[in-house]
Amino acid sequence: MISISSNFDSGAILVDRCEQPDDISLRIRADSHADFTQWFHFRVAGVRDTPITVRLTNAGQSTYPGGWRDYSVVASYDHSNWFRVATRLVDGVLEWQHTPAADAIYYAYFEPYSWERHLELIGRIGAAPGVEQQRLGATVDGRDLDILYLGSRQAQAPRVWIIARQHPGETMAEWFVEGLLERLLDGADPVSRTLLGSARFCVVPNMNPDGAVRGNLRTNAAGANLNREWLEPSRERSPEVWLVRAAMQKEGVALFVDAHGDEALPYVFVAGNDMVPGFTQALADSQASFIANFKNASPDFQDRFGYPRDKHSTEALKLASKWVGHEFGCLSLTLEMPFKDNANLPDSQRGWDGARSKRLGAAILLPIAQYLADRAQM
Ligand SMILES: [Zn+2]
Repeated sequence: MISISSNFDSGAILVDRCEQPDDISLRIRADSHADFTQWFHFRVAGVRDTPITVRLTNAGQSTYPGGWRDYSVVASYDHSNWFRVATRLVDGVLEWQHTPAADAIYYAYFEPYSWERHLELIGRIGAAPGVEQQRLGATVDGRDLDILYLGSRQAQAPRVWIIARQHPGETMAEWFVEGLLERLLDGADPVSRTLLGSARFCVVPNMNPDGAVRGNLRTNAAGANLNREWLEPSRERSPEVWLVRAAMQKEGVALFVDAHGDEALPYVFVAGNDMVPGFTQALADSQASFIANFKNASPDFQDRFGYPRDKHSTEALKLASKWVGHEFGCLSLTLEMPFKDNANLPDSQRGWDGARSKRLGAAILLPIAQYLADRAQM
């Protein structure tokens, strides 16, 4: 007998039918308190060596229908090693056929980053020598919102802020942070040693713990899209942003990177602040240098494909990287990784995944180091 479940960390699906293996009919569930509909994560049991057909019948009405073009679903037997299964979109229905080699299999929109792994990351990095871990406060659901401080304790040391998962379904963002933190703490790495000696890193690995656990794509437990809350965060509706913004105002910001995932574009890219009032020629030059240096540091990063420069012009200062760049007059970037794959360097077995996001997180330290060296000379 086939059964479908999603009652676990970041699980989300609605079941219409699963009696017949060739007619498993499901719907993508909306975020818990908002209409965004894209993330799914569920287990199918009772299907060993059985050819099954899974259909997500509302995929065509999802928030980002372009996300299903050339999309392969991620699958895993052990919830740890994930591989891709090709899908097709027919009349708004996302469909895949698969013959699982075990009794039960997980399918998800993207490789999950579990709350348990988050707690382990915070604990492990927070306990490392020279690292300070601080609980900034509570989320809407009462979870801990934690920040990690690494590097120089000098008052004048430039502050490098890295945040991830404002949009909780963009799990690649926390994989990215894990790779960045692990390289920073590699005592044999000269880039990391240079950075920790001269700068102070302020890192929030998961900005949206409630949305992550609830299996939301874009919103917290009050239905807030945190990346539209930066101009006027509210203690009730968006305490996560309120708390981090207050910590920034206390510390200052020399460089800000906000890590995200993009549903449709199969590339790694950054969105800059060209449209933000007060964006100077010096900032434009710094941004161009950072992009050039990032390209040299990782062949996964490119600047040919991305967002139009004026994409968020009307609501710009509600977005984290725009608000921070404007408020602190610093280089401030939104980093986007793909849900699908990097079309310049595709991997048909795994697509873009956690491991590749981690390598990107390690690679960004070089352009950060070059930016800080240039800044010190100004
Ligand atoms: Zn995002």
